[in-house]
Amino acid sequence: MNQPAPTSNKTPADKPFEEAAQTLLAQMSLREKIGQMSGDTPRLRGMIKMAYAYNVRPYPAGENRRLGIPPLLFTDGPRGVVVSQATCFPVSMARGATWDIDLEEKVGDAIGVEARTLGANFFAGVCINVLRHPAWGRAQETYGEDPYHLGEMGAALVRGSQRHVMACVKHYAANSIENSRMKVDVELDQRTLREVYLPHFKRCVDEGIASIMSAYNQVNGAYCGHNQPLLRQILKKEWGFDGFVISDFVWGIRDTAAAAIAGCDLEMPFTQHYGKRLEAAVKSGTVSERTIDDAVLRILRQKIRFAPVGQPERYKPAIVAGESHRALAREVAQKAIVLLKNEPLAPDQAAPLPLDLGEIKQLALIGPLADWPNLGDNGSSRVRPPSVVTPLEGIRAAAGAVAVQHYDGADPTPAAQLAAQTDVAIVVVGLTHADEGERIEYPWGSTGGDRDSLTLAPEDETLIHAVAAANPRTIVVLMGGSAIITEAWRHEAPAILMAWYPGLEGGHALADILFGSVNPSAKLPIIFPKSAAQLPFFDKNVPKITYDRYHGYRFLERAGEEPAFPFGFGLSYTTFNYSELQVEPATISPSGAVEASVTITNSGSRAGEEVAQLYIGYPNSAVDRPEKELKGFVRVKLLPGENKRIHFSLPAGQLAYYDPDVEGWVVETVEYALYVGSSSANRDLLAAGFRITIENEGGVGG
Ligand code: BGC
Repeated sequence: MNQPAPTSNKTPADKPFEEAAQTLLAQMSLREKIGQMSGDTPRLRGMIKMAYAYNVRPYPAGENRRLGIPPLLFTDGPRGVVVSQATCFPVSMARGATWDIDLEEKVGDAIGVEARTLGANFFAGVCINVLRHPAWGRAQETYGEDPYHLGEMGAALVRGSQRHVMACVKHYAANSIENSRMKVDVELDQRTLREVYLPHFKRCVDEGIASIMSAYNQVNGAYCGHNQPLLRQILKKEWGFDGFVISDFVWGIRDTAAAAIAGCDLEMPFTQHYGKRLEAAVKSGTVSERTIDDAVLRILRQKIRFAPVGQPERYKPAIVAGESHRALAREVAQKAIVLLKNEPLAPDQAAPLPLDLGEIKQLALIGPLADWPNLGDNGSSRVRPPSVVTPLEGIRAAAGAVAVQHYDGADPTPAAQLAAQTDVAIVVVGLTHADEGERIEYPWGSTGGDRDSLTLAPEDETLIHAVAAANPRTIVVLMGGSAIITEAWRHEAPAILMAWYPGLEGGHALADILFGSVNPSAKLPIIFPKSAAQLPFFDKNVPKITYDRYHGYRFLERAGEEPAFPFGFGLSYTTFNYSELQVEPATISPSGAVEASVTITNSGSRAGEEVAQLYIGYPNSAVDRPEKELKGFVRVKLLPGENKRIHFSLPAGQLAYYDPDVEGWVVETVEYALYVGSSSANRDLLAAGFRITIENEGGVGG
């Protein structure tokens, strides 16, 4: 028998903000109200600034001097503050690989502090789009492929940044193809939308996010900025969101009445469809003044809510890209670099990593990215730090007496000769902003976009073949914003690290991992496939596409396919054992919760951190569901030999599926499978079960 899941416990708009917003609204003329609803930059100047001086200063919106209403001062983006010089953190995808909620909250705090110091009060960097396919050009701006993981990481960034600024979560919704983002119509049924593409946005709404940016693309036939079901119905009505919706820039809305009626509250970054056109639409009766009042109240409410927020004593220029934020960026990168492979060359030998400084005399560092500040995309998320530590600089700084010889790898023959003369060879290859990123059309051409191929460039693969053939102790360090197919060479390299775009301290963090002063602890927030054929259909130019509930690990598991590296996977220099999985009680009610506990033991000889993951399977469901889905994770620190009992609490409501017939969430009263372990691969998981029954079926706890 089925029971509806408990509904959201969202609190209504806070009374004092509400009253103050209403009082202010009552004093405003229609023109003044509409003035709150567009960016303040004059259109022509805005266009020129976007083409020639993008993001040099915060974009203002809604200043009203007569009433003393300050403007919103907008800054991007996910990896730090984009105006002026600031700390460039590892990209969101790298931070997703940390699975470290507390650390992400600290990143949010640091970005919030830098935003305020640099003159912004509105941070639009909480990007939580689902990575449906690794070719997506903006993969690096989001945290991964899983809605639960995305929601927890995004909520942490919201918590941290909103200690200082209003934050904005983006791009709502189903934005995961770049080249056709301005036109593509993404068709999804209600289950797909609600179970896969929206839960993480709801998570951020429940966290108290001030604002949401609508996406450029269409969902079910309507542009997201005009999308009544998404904006008015789901976000504002069902979820009780009391903040404001902003358009994505310039092309986010295309029609005055459609956008205003659907609930797009603020047109950014300048007036095109709102302003005088909106005023005329109100005067002609096409758009009601109630709609305007609702939009303006939403904006005023958040301006008032955030007016007293902040810690002014911290907003000093020296903190921006200063010592403490650089140290934070380094810690994030240390926890973000994934050890994908580390196999001994022979059974009686140690694994190649970590490198032993006492044992190595000569090290070859080869590759086009070995000494290049590879920070990621050059689009709206571009951060300009005062300096960047490259892999070469980081390795040289940590290598002590080891002679580090560098070659950019332009020709594989000298690269192989160099590798043959050294004790170990490290090859640094991968993607740059020339291979992927936000697609931006400039008067002189376009940049960024979706990837055409998921492999390395042929010359990078040739370089790996040559170096690995010359030196069996070859370590490959990959850079990029999402999955890279490694099949052509992965069996030749005994050790592989995924470094993503690791931020301004990336070179130091990489050296920390290579030489073992830090034990790797990152886990993939996406699958790395063996081939593109294992993935769902993707075409960067499609005008229309249908998304279903399967991508990433859900897609591969249903197809019975093995990825090259599974979701949640990452090695350590130590080993962890999972034992004694217990689930209590064995039976709960649809409003109850189960507690799962497991013992994790560090069975190796180094201290380390492990990310334990909890998945739920639905073998008895009456409807089609994935093999399993992530429902919890926790980071644990363990000394050699130490063990800890860790606990997960899982409310039954989290197991619901969306039933379009009843237009609501349903918790099935059946037996569920529960898995805990070190990755999503079945071989890495312990399994147990529990049952949900309605109270009068007896034996119910929780
Ligand atoms: C991007 C947004 C960004 C905005 C402002 C748009 O092109 O899609 O993510 O916030 O520009 O820079």
